[in-house]
Order: sequence, then structure tokens, then C-alpha cells
Amino acid sequence: MTNLIEIKGVTHAYRTKAGPLPVLDDLNISVPEGEFAAVVGPSGCGKSTLTRLVSGLMKPDRGEVWLHGERVTSPRKTVGMAFQNPVMLEWRTILQNVLLPLEIVDSGLNRMEREGRARHLLEMVGLKGFENKRPSELSGGMRQRASLCRAIVHRPDVLIMDEPFGALDNFTREDLWQTMRDLRKKEPFTCVLITHDLRESIFLGDQVIVLSGRPAHTQHVLDVDLPDDRTLDILYEPKAQEMLHLLRDQIRIAQGRDGEVH
Ligand code: ADP
Ligand code: MG
Repeated sequence: MTNLIEIKGVTHAYRTKAGPLPVLDDLNISVPEGEFAAVVGPSGCGKSTLTRLVSGLMKPDRGEVWLHGERVTSPRKTVGMAFQNPVMLEWRTILQNVLLPLEIVDSGLNRMEREGRARHLLEMVGLKGFENKRPSELSGGMRQRASLCRAIVHRPDVLIMDEPFGALDNFTREDLWQTMRDLRKKEPFTCVLITHDLRESIFLGDQVIVLSGRPAHTQHVLDVDLPDDRTLDILYEPKAQEMLHLLRDQIRIAQGRDGEVH
């Protein structure tokens, strides 16, 4: 299997008034095509910086980022992004918001096909009937569902999510985890998820990458050896509990290296 994402020896420092702030230090990450990588690490360790590097919004001081066999040196249209607070255009309907990327990327689809694709995705995430609503008429969870559709409507090579479920209440969040898994069964895409929720990381991830404290390097990689057909119940089983303990320990180690608490 080829690696869709290859991060090799990435090292980066921000230039600040107080001098350089090293954030990433010889970071190495590989994500095979179709895999879901969850990334956890202490607050402020460089996780969001990592998403900017993978999407080509920033160039690292040293090291290389490869996507689908091509070196990333500038922003990519073949990357889908989702954030904690979905940015929706209020004057557009939900359907029109989901259609946005297809207006920017040449998808080879005609207008009818584009709309069909967007409607299909909205139905898959449970938003059938809400196509013509405005974003403000939807709950936070529903907006996040719509933003997921928008992030993958143009079939990006990779979906990068930076704490997308962080602002949602627990039950809504767990519903979205299940939706995410159902979606990937029908629409296989490669995924990088930044999260601070360890349960989320093993429920969604094929691998969990633990970053050290700042400057971040890959401290530990956990292979999530759980069945593909997961329901939330699996989180209460001994195997999952063992993984959660291991990750908790790893986070403690990562926090100790830096000691910074946000
Ligand atoms: P995380 O997402 O893991 O919380 P970030 O990648 O957002 O961490 O940030 C890592 C560190 O870099 C933090 O200390 C943050 O304050 C700093 N930082 C982030 N962006 C910038 C920037 N544009 N300029 C200077 N410092 C930054
Ligand atoms: Mg962040």
C-alpha cells in the first residue's frame, strides 16, 4: 500500500518578536491511502501547525511533505478541511454552502451532477430536508455535518480536520463519530484528525499518533487494532480500555517534556 501522506523530518520554528519559537522538531508521519490517522498531543505542541503544512498553507523550515507522490509546496485544492467552528456563508443555503468547493475545483461534473452529489452527501449525514435552510437555522451539530459534506464534496485526496467536534456536547459528538465512520464506509477517503479526545482518537482512527510537547516530534504511534465495524460499545471493552490507558500515559509523558498548560 502506498503512503498517501508522507511527512519526513519536518522541522519548523515561528519567527516571533521574542525570537524563534521551535514548534516541530524532526516530525515523521506516514498515512497509507484510505487510512484514518488521529493525532493527539498537548495543547500548543504544534498540531494546527501540522495541518497548515499538510495543506500547503505553510512551508516548513526543513523536511518534506508529500501528498500522493507529489511534494507539497503551495496550497492544495485536493485537500478538504474541517475546523472546530465551521465557517458557513450565511447568505447561502446549506446546499449552496456544500456546493462551494465544486464551484472552485474543476470536478468535471455538470450542474445537475454537482447538485446530485451534494444532495447525496447531505442525505448520508442525515440532513435530507435541510438543503434549503440557512446555516443559522441549524444546530451546531447539524452545521458540523454540513461542513463535513462540504469538505469532501469534491473528493479531496485527504480530509484534514482540526478538532472538528471540540465545540459539541458529548452526545452530539458521539453521533458524529458514528456518522463519520458510516460516511467512510461509503466514501473511502484518507483522513487526518487532530483531536484532544482520546476516545475519539481510537473510535475513529486506524492509527493514533501521539505528538510530544513543543517542539513536537512523533512520540508514539498506536495501531488501533479494533474491528472495522465499530459501535460506541467497543469503547467499554478491555482492549479499548487498555489503549486508552496507554494513550493517557503517553500524553502524560508528552506534557512532562514541555510542562506548558493552556
Ligand atoms: P496546537 O494546535 O497543538 O495547540 P499550534 O500549532 O496552534 O498548537 O501552535 C504551536 C505553538 O506555536 C503555540 O505556542 C502557538 O502559540 C505558536 N504559534 C502558532 N501560530 C503562530 C504564528 N503564526 N506565529 C507565532 N507563533 C505561533
Ligand atoms: Mg490547534
